[in-house]
Amino acid sequence: LGEAWTTLPNPYDIPVEICAGPDVPIEPAALDELLTVLDTQRTLDSLAGDGVRPRIERVVCTPDFHKGAGIPIGTVLQTSGALVPQAVGNDINCGMRVEATSLTVEQVRPRLDELERRLRHVFFEGGRHIGLTPAHREGLLRAGLPGLLAEGPLGHAVRDADRLHAGAFPAGSAEEFRDWVTSGGGTSYDSIIGGVGGGNHFAELQYVAAVHDGPTAYAWGLAPGRIVTMVHSGSLSLGHQAGATGRDLARKAWPAGLPLPDNGILPIPLSEKTEKLRHRYLTSFANAANFAIGNRYFLSLMMRTGLTAAVGELDVRLVYDAPHNLLWPGGSGSPWVKGDGPDDVVLHRKGATPAGLSADGWGEPVIVPGSMGAPSYLLRGLGNERALTSACHGAGRSVPRGAASRGSDAELDEFLREFRVVTPLNHRDPAVAARRDIIAAWRRDLKQEAPWAYKEVRPVVESLRIAAVAEPVVELRPLLTVKG
Ligand code: 5GP
Ligand code: MN
Ligand code: MN
Repeated sequence: LGEAWTTLPNPYDIPVEICAGPDVPIEPAALDELLTVLDTQRTLDSLAGDGVRPRIERVVCTPDFHKGAGIPIGTVLQTSGALVPQAVGNDINCGMRVEATSLTVEQVRPRLDELERRLRHVFFEGGRHIGLTPAHREGLLRAGLPGLLAEGPLGHAVRDADRLHAGAFPAGSAEEFRDWVTSGGGTSYDSIIGGVGGGNHFAELQYVAAVHDGPTAYAWGLAPGRIVTMVHSGSLSLGHQAGATGRDLARKAWPAGLPLPDNGILPIPLSEKTEKLRHRYLTSFANAANFAIGNRYFLSLMMRTGLTAAVGELDVRLVYDAPHNLLWPGGSGSPWVKGDGPDDVVLHRKGATPAGLSADGWGEPVIVPGSMGAPSYLLRGLGNERALTSACHGAGRSVPRGAASRGSDAELDEFLREFRVVTPLNHRDPAVAARRDIIAAWRRDLKQEAPWAYKEVRPVVESLRIAAVAEPVVELRPLLTVKG
């Protein structure tokens, strides 16, 4: 097993381990960034007092580890006595949701032109009608999917609730909710619900191309040729607002006279002094996290709507909804509200997904997408403590977004002939096709998301297997990708 793990020496003697097999390239820039993150231990030392002595306890990096903004993506950070808003990532509760359908690839393939038209309408041409009442909205943001369901005729989601890593994030009082929403936190969310989000977010139609673990696949409702939907989305502008709130509060909690840390990372100590402020942060955090779960639910529903219209009636079954930008007070346990660990321990995952054991014995489903032109994988978590029960949440970028215009126009054209990508821009419309400036910008964006901008997913998945973090269950291949 040794070859999948590397220990990173550091001046603070913090246990830092990187999980990556021999064929997974790790950027030196990401390692430099990680070493800078460890300087936060000095910040924590300077914040000691008021009954707390905060520490970074352990760090684990997943195989899709790459440079982020301040803290690398793919970082799992376990602290005690402090929480670190920046170790969650900007897009609070970004995650992946997978549903298995009763359709097969043979049924869907001949209907793809029609499906593309339907999905374009549902996602981008005003064809989604998510008419939530104010009570629904408040129910969703304050109490997640169960809160939404309690308010009315969306009852079919009830059976989904037990297949979520965490379905509900308890989020303060009604007054606090209204304060936050009216102060700007939630003003725009009604227009954004059902939005995919730009860049690497997606809603994808896939099929089971290979089964690696028959019994688990069967238990999850998967078989060769079966159609699956995979959704990757977060909390859109709501999460960014909550993240900004967290950073503002951390700045407010900063002791007067103490210089700000060079690495720009501001933790909030779990002292009595910061209690009110933390409650405020966690309330807006929970509102955003609840929104993300609901939004993934609606995006899956929109995929179902398109399939029903283009192919016919179908059954669906939730395989899992897995968060990858979240924090867990009380350690590694699930649900989010409180782990099994000591009260002052906080587990942060920024671009990393839980890979625990599960009560049903199959293991927690781990969703590892590749790219819009490459396979994706479902694995089963093995509850590896060395990995802080965490796995990667994708293949990971290999080319930074800015530089990713790499790849020739010819390469992109070849890719677009082979893969169906549905975007807000209907490039087949002759009037749009004539606007060369718009088409050029659209092509630049697509190149940043093309398969060559991401690492190869197979060695990434193989790292998880040899490190005993998770085992492959099925390989999925894309048929059509909706990009925000
Ligand atoms: P994140 O944005 O959360 O850091 O990364 C999500 C992961 O999803 C990426 O590392 C990449 O491997 C994968 N990914 C990005 N775009 C797509 C897509 O359109 N389809 C699939 N299947 N995977 C994607
Ligand atoms: Mn994400
Ligand atoms: Mn995101």
